[in-house]
Amino acid sequence: MLEGLIRSWDGEQVVTRFDRPTETWMFVCIHSTDLGPAGGGTRLRTYETPADALADAMNLAGAMTLKMAAADMPFGGGKAVLAVPAPLDAGDRRELFERYGDLVGSLGGTYQTGPDMNTSVTDMDVIGERTPYVCCRSVERGGSGDPGPATATGVFHGLRASVAHAFGSDGLEGRSVLVQGLGDVGERLAEQVADAGARLLVSDIDAGRATAAAERLHAVVVAPEDAIGAECDVYAPCAVGGTLNAASIPLLRCRVVAGCANNQLAEPADADRLRAAGILYAPDFVINAGGVLHAWGGELLGWPAETIAERHRAIGDTLLEIYERAETEGVSTHEAAERLARARVA
Ligand code: NAD
Repeated sequence: MLEGLIRSWDGEQVVTRFDRPTETWMFVCIHSTDLGPAGGGTRLRTYETPADALADAMNLAGAMTLKMAAADMPFGGGKAVLAVPAPLDAGDRRELFERYGDLVGSLGGTYQTGPDMNTSVTDMDVIGERTPYVCCRSVERGGSGDPGPATATGVFHGLRASVAHAFGSDGLEGRSVLVQGLGDVGERLAEQVADAGARLLVSDIDAGRATAAAERLHAVVVAPEDAIGAECDVYAPCAVGGTLNAASIPLLRCRVVAGCANNQLAEPADADRLRAAGILYAPDFVINAGGVLHAWGGELLGWPAETIAERHRAIGDTLLEIYERAETEGVSTHEAAERLARARVA
């Protein structure tokens, strides 16, 4: 199974290590170094099989190549997965990240990591004790810290550009925006959207979180099971992937989808389903690049804050270019974004 996956992958290399003390499979997947060293986060999760973990890392690494290229960054794409058999206690977790840091270090900079699902700035600090090839360590340790706020800012610019394309003006006054998932990114996006005068709807499986955000930001709470069918101008998926699929798309009552979640489309055909439904979709790997611009740009390219802010605004310009190309070429916005990114890699 693992062999078949590796043979059929279009990426450059897979580095595997089995960490015996914690029985964790480590997979570092380097998809492309054509534009520069591969960059991408490390995800920690329990999977049914090691093959499921490897497949996840491969898909995510390919998406990082597109994300870096679409953001016009001189980096390639990679991703790593630490497939733990069960949750680890703090001591085991620290030691796992120390050994994982050694593995990343052994690659000599071909792959530079950062946080992803279930990994934090604290984990990056541990990796950073063993290798310099890690972004988003804490600010006290010389890193750029949590990328969430920067991701939210990038999404906000992308959301406004998408509204401009769909409605003819980027003003959010009176527009209704549903933010699904009020975590690190979603809550900050919700704040910016509310500040811009939008009518905010919020939804989270953590009911306390949704209520607290709604009170603070004068928003309306939508139950998690009602989020897909909620009537709004913009649906911003900021929780999990796969919310756009054959079953959910016919239920959508929005004009624009623009949020930070990774892998929003369950399958590529969903991009065509959205197009057929007249819904403008902001490709996830374009709109959610703000954290990468902040961390890889700030830490590895030495960009000052003004440059990072400029590049965050450019996410909106890139999306407008993608929307125009999609219309001219008669393809989905997802396809147009992939074409733009692939042309840059080529
Ligand atoms: P997070 O874990 O901080 O927050 C996720 C939130 O979504 C939580 O409040 C959780 O309760 C809620 N949630 C989970 N499942 C839900 C569901 N089915 N319905 C409604 N709410 C649900 O995560 P985050 O860092 O804010 O990231 C959110 C998404 O954006 C993820 O898909 C992540 O991969 C992607 N992303 C994050 C960053 C970043 O910088 N953090 C960058 C790029 C992409």
